Amino acid sequence: MSVKGKTAVITGSNSGIGLGIAEELARAGVNVVLNSFTDSEEDHALAARIAKETGVEARYIQADMSKGDQCRALIEKAGRCDILVNNAGIQHVAPIDEFPTEKWDAIIAINLTSAFHTTAAALPMMRKAGWGRVINIASAHGLTASPYKSAYVAAKHGIVGLTKVTALETAKEPITANAICPGYVLTPLVEAQIPDTMKKYDMDRDEVIEKVMLERQPSKEFATTEQLGGTALFLCSDAAAQITGTTISVDGGWTAL
Ligand code: NAD
Repeated sequence: MSVKGKTAVITGSNSGIGLGIAEELARAGVNVVLNSFTDSEEDHALAARIAKETGVEARYIQADMSKGDQCRALIEKAGRCDILVNNAGIQHVAPIDEFPTEKWDAIIAINLTSAFHTTAAALPMMRKAGWGRVINIASAHGLTASPYKSAYVAAKHGIVGLTKVTALETAKEPITANAICPGYVLTPLVEAQIPDTMKKYDMDRDEVIEKVMLERQPSKEFATTEQLGGTALFLCSDAAAQITGTTISVDGGWTAL
């Protein structure tokens, strides 16, 4: 079955990996709903650009993924959700005993709980349509840990667990649920971590990239948003119909170490 004409909702997709996945799906003929918590002209212009370049319907719907009711409203406003990509995410880096509680709460809400709400709202639509794909953007940190990333690692391990439960609850239906686990991808989220890491290790930018970020990525290359878009598109293909409840690492060998 072709994905052409299907509708995808991609949370947190006005930049980085979410935008890359939206663009790749749109190029394959999927109508896309972009999202973030902002509601700027640039956000709506992004959707207009994708529609113009690919000929699909592209909309931008504002919703704050830290709020359960807004997560569910996003799916309701989309009206249709054949492909759900739970991608919205934030990061904060600090030792556990100094980790601000509000940052812990925000990371768990945006990186994990939002996916519970959007999945709960989207599954009935997928069942009605007789086809569905849930794609959760976890991380290499959904399978391994690093110091100072307690909330992020907990949320990403949590989303891998939620992915497995979603897969089991839909196993007998034409719906799959999988998690993509990227290694480091040079997006605004990663850029934002560089200054703190430079301070922590007393290194310059290039050293942080080579010795800290890509230290655990044996390929010594960042993964790209295009590669993640391609992986998401593969999970929507017929070839992936029996792939469910699993993780796909796009991490240059990180989790093979
Ligand atoms: P990014 O900062 O470019 O994108 C994050 C997106 O989430 C943005 O569109 C942002 O607007 C959105 N967002 C943040 N808070 C939100 C909220 N409250 N409501 C709605 N949207 C919100 O970062 P990215 O690197 O593209 O990250 C995307 C996902 O990929 C995240 O879940 C992240 O954990 C995961 N990831 C990233 C990397 C990496 O190296 N960049 C690696 C592994 C996993």
